[in-house]
Amino acid sequence: MTKGADLYRLQCLDSEGDVKRRRLAEVEAALGESEPLRQARRALESAQTMVQKWTLRQRDLELEIQGLSDKITRSEQRLYSGVIKNPKELADLQAEIASLKRRRQKLEDDLLEAMLEREEAEAARAQAQVHLDEIQAQWSAQQADLMVEREMLRGRLAEIEQAREALLPSIEAGDLAVYEALRRRKGGQAVVQVRDGACGGCGVAIPPGLKWQLRQDKLVYCGNCERIIVRT
Ligand SMILES: [Zn+2]
Repeated sequence: MTKGADLYRLQCLDSEGDVKRRRLAEVEAALGESEPLRQARRALESAQTMVQKWTLRQRDLELEIQGLSDKITRSEQRLYSGVIKNPKELADLQAEIASLKRRRQKLEDDLLEAMLEREEAEAARAQAQVHLDEIQAQWSAQQADLMVEREMLRGRLAEIEQAREALLPSIEAGDLAVYEALRRRKGGQAVVQVRDGACGGCGVAIPPGLKWQLRQDKLVYCGNCERIIVRT
């Protein structure tokens, strides 16, 4: 005959197992990359892209300015060499040099702007790196804690399973089937204790006939919620 105390012990193990398994699922879900970490990494990547963009722009402008300067130097050498005598040709060359210099001035302004943008982008990248490092450190610490917790939960669940296996031989197959069915229907709680003469599950008073059966260590079912009631 199955003892109420054994069923109650089984219920305690299973209830604890339910809680531990739920927490284990949460812990496993929290392991791995977090959204803030992914965001911080993306922010650093886009800051890096901006730095590259302005670095490239600066280099292009510098090359273009260098090319113009070379061209201006050559034109000025021709202008002052005395080779060209024709006044119209000289005037054209002077106009061309002036135009090249205006173009170079414009590019030098653009270069200054590009250098400023690059500095700003580098500052933003440094900030994004600091932020990522912080998030990464937090995340690593959290992961370590979660892994410790996961091991503890797995360990305790294995103990619960062992205790359950040890307990099962003292529970009759039919009673176990009823217990399992009640667990499914009653939110995991199949066995309850007597509380102030009432069912610990639904609170309805236990009639004298059932109390008598309880005293004889028989399995008693609540007439209201159908749970197994045990005396402790
Ligand atoms: Zn009840």
